[in-house]
Amino acid sequence: MEETWTKKELNSFRTMIKDKRESVIIELDEARERAESFTTGDSVNAIYSSHMADAGSDQQEREKLFYFLKRETEFLKYLDRALEMMDEGTFGICKTCKKKIAEERLIEVPHTTQCFSCKSKVKF
Ligand SMILES: [Zn+2]
Repeated sequence: MEETWTKKELNSFRTMIKDKRESVIIELDEARERAESFTTGDSVNAIYSSHMADAGSDQQEREKLFYFLKRETEFLKYLDRALEMMDEGTFGICKTCKKKIAEERLIEVPHTTQCFSCKSKVKF
């Protein structure tokens, strides 16, 4: 028998995902602003490049920032996907065994299409 989430359960997931989405968007905005300040600051830094140590940590900071941006942008896509799956009625249901996916797993990876045991069994 196929399992389903109740409307109430789905709604609380939806709220959780939307909240996460909001905070990711805010974080992304802040990170983008910082990334831009790095980019526009380049020519200024070049003039005062006598501080090599500072330039090095700037570079590190910039790499961290771009990595963060990339990861958060991916995460945002996953959250959007999860919301789509809710509309399609496929959210939180394992596509292999048709059972509900553990709540803890859905909080970690809301767009997942398989429960942990099915995912572990599949060998490509
Ligand atoms: Zn399964």
